[in-house]
Amino acid sequence: MRQMTIKKKITLWYTGIIAVVLGTILVLVLLFVDKVGISATEEEVSAAVTGFSSNINFQDDSFYLEGDTEFYDDGIMFCIYDKNGRLLYGTIPTQFPKETILKSNTPRVITSTNRKWMVYDTVYSYGDNEELWVRGITSIHSMELFMQTSEKLLLIVYPLLIVLIGAIGYFMIKRALKQVDLICDEVENISNGKDLSKRLSLPKAKDELYELSEKFNEMFERLEFSFEKERQFTADVSHELRTPVAVIISQCEYLLENEKLSAEETEEIEVILKQARRMSKLTGEMLMIARNEQGEQHLMEKLDFGLLCELVTEELQAKAREKNIHITLQKPDDLFMKGDQTLLLRMMMNLINNAINYGKSDGHIDIILKKENNRIIGEVKDDGIGISKEHLDKIWERFYRVDKSRSRENGGTGLGLSMVRWIINLHQGTIRVESIEGIGTSFIFQFPLL
Ligand code: ADP
Repeated sequence: MRQMTIKKKITLWYTGIIAVVLGTILVLVLLFVDKVGISATEEEVSAAVTGFSSNINFQDDSFYLEGDTEFYDDGIMFCIYDKNGRLLYGTIPTQFPKETILKSNTPRVITSTNRKWMVYDTVYSYGDNEELWVRGITSIHSMELFMQTSEKLLLIVYPLLIVLIGAIGYFMIKRALKQVDLICDEVENISNGKDLSKRLSLPKAKDELYELSEKFNEMFERLEFSFEKERQFTADVSHELRTPVAVIISQCEYLLENEKLSAEETEEIEVILKQARRMSKLTGEMLMIARNEQGEQHLMEKLDFGLLCELVTEELQAKAREKNIHITLQKPDDLFMKGDQTLLLRMMMNLINNAINYGKSDGHIDIILKKENNRIIGEVKDDGIGISKEHLDKIWERFYRVDKSRSRENGGTGLGLSMVRWIINLHQGTIRVESIEGIGTSFIFQFPLL
């Protein structure tokens, strides 16, 4: 499963926490408003009932009401009952349940079908065991309606608000982490391009990301230094080995000229000579790679790639004949490109040499060059031993050989194809390989035409 990005993780956590906190606050506020509303109505009704009662005057066994007594005041309706609960004065609201029992000094919420009421009763004793009940009734329907509407509204607004908070949060985190993305891109560019001399650009603000970029730059500096040391060492060793190896070769060649040598001695010297030549090739190639990696400048000049291939083919015809391999070259005229002649010769030499070395006796090698879309397309195709699928990706690595003993026998170093690839890259080209084990191999490459 794909890992969630930091941006998404932070946004989810932050939105989740805000959703819980905001949701709790909203629920508490609604409960509080409801409670405050109810207790305010309770106080209002009880005060109104007490106020209304001042209109009642008691005299021994009877009572009378003031002439201007109103049974409705500011949303509250008043009723007067006798001690048996019989309604004496006032009107009961139509939907109010008439059978609601009288209960002294206890404000209550009464619910009927779809309405809610607040009721407050108070009782007065007079005469000989007589009682008079005063009831105040007010509808709390509008308050309930307000609460219900608020709840519905919040149910719509709340998720929208959370989505909005999440989106704003994501946008802000994205902005804050943009520098991290930039650092990642730059690090990737540097490591892909393998140019460790490049450095990350430092952000303007001297924050944590500034420090991170600085640390990366320090790391690149150390890496560059150690790679440079390693390259220098390879170059120095290869260079130092060239002279002694050249001396061994020339001494062996000199010894072989001696006619008095026995067959056994000649064979032994030839073994030394073969190994010394292999070593000379290896040191030469290592030196070339090390120099290239040190950024050696190459002489890029206009050249005819077709002509260059002709030269290499002619040079290798003799070697191919030893295995009775037939080499053909197909090419159009004027295949001009800009390149380093020595390197391109080396590249074609390596490819055709491999085709001979890993080709079968009486086989064929076809070198086909074409012009296509302003590019030179080249192919070196053999009907040799081929390369199995598992090795195909690895043959470009330095010192990688499918069959070490066969490579050694052919004087191979395992550096040939890695050199081919960097020479092609240096000339803004690409190369790929197609091969079927036992059938043959094709190396297909392309360069820009001049
Ligand atoms: P080497 O010096 O061993 O030839 P290269 O880098 O040139 O090194 O090639 C790497 C390996 O790829 C070789 O050892 C060989 O196994 C394989 N290879 C290269 N070219 C061919 C080819 N034309 N046919 C079959 N195998 C090949």
